[in-house]
Amino acid sequence: MLTLVLLTELLAQPRRVVITTHHKPDGDALGSSLGLYNYLIQLGHHVQVIPPTDYPEFLAWMPGNEEVLIYTEQPEKAAELIAAAELIFCLDFNALSRINEMGELVRASGAYKVMIDHHLEPEDFDDYRHWNINACATAQLIYDFIVNQLNDKDRITADVATCLYTGIMTDSGSFRFPQTTSAVHRIVADLIDAGAVNWRIHELIYSSSSENRLRFLGHCLSNKLEVLPEYHTAIITVSREELKQFDIATGDTEGVVNYAMSITGVKLAAFFVERTDKVKLSLRSKAEFPANEICKKYFNGGGHRNAAGGQSTESLEATVQQFKSILPAYKTLLIQ
Ligand code: 5GP
Ligand code: MN
Repeated sequence: MLTLVLLTELLAQPRRVVITTHHKPDGDALGSSLGLYNYLIQLGHHVQVIPPTDYPEFLAWMPGNEEVLIYTEQPEKAAELIAAAELIFCLDFNALSRINEMGELVRASGAYKVMIDHHLEPEDFDDYRHWNINACATAQLIYDFIVNQLNDKDRITADVATCLYTGIMTDSGSFRFPQTTSAVHRIVADLIDAGAVNWRIHELIYSSSSENRLRFLGHCLSNKLEVLPEYHTAIITVSREELKQFDIATGDTEGVVNYAMSITGVKLAAFFVERTDKVKLSLRSKAEFPANEICKKYFNGGGHRNAAGGQSTESLEATVQQFKSILPAYKTLLIQ
């Protein structure tokens, strides 16, 4: 175990640090990682951000992005850095399976492991934990870690602020999910004061679709949306051929599920996409409905109550069928 005092002492001298985050990093995963990176390099640490996989173009602009080492692109180098690290920060995930084969490398490393995360049910692989499921984003916890635990608000530079703003903005659905409290807005105000250019960040994230992506979205909404009024549920299903037809890249499918969720009365939205080796599903729900429970129980996944994901090795049709067969058990919750 590491106490905050010991961690602060460790950070008082230059260390070999690795920062990692979950498979297919989203805005919060990458924003937290690069926010912490931009903080730690000011203290003279040797810091390497290593996500397990690549991430979409619309995220590839944050300060420090050029220094990121993607595990799948340079696995040997990444393995060496993980083995030699003195400190490994695990951000926005809490189960080693979320970082694929990197998980065993992290487990085997002699480094102290620091988990900063806001997902339910953390696994026990860390030495120090800053974990709070009420946080709207891991980036909020990084801000709290730097400002309140390390007492280092002066080092929230424009670069740090830009990354943390991106994490909070994306994970809070642009400041609209229930965990976007007044405290979050105060943090966001601090980040803008520190140099995060809010309007520009929104533009970079949300107004940077390719023409293909927009046409793909149109296709999903006109042709692929299925509404099940008796269950207050909406489903969008996409096959591998359709991904090819619209030349869909990593991340282009992100957010499609939210459109299904935006229908009045819909309490549960599901997005199914056929990948090369599996079917991936994304669930979103409103209020008390536990989307993560469905993912965990039936689809080898998990997540938050209102945003969760999972996968299946069955066919696309069988996976959708399985999902539909689960709905009657949740009917009471869905229609209240
Ligand atoms: P998305 O639908 O955007 O891929 O994921 C939404 C949330 O669900 C993520 O923030 C993550 O917390 C969780 N999630 C997605 N896929 C998985 C998975 O395969 N396993 C677990 N444990 N959580 C997942
Ligand atoms: Mn997050």
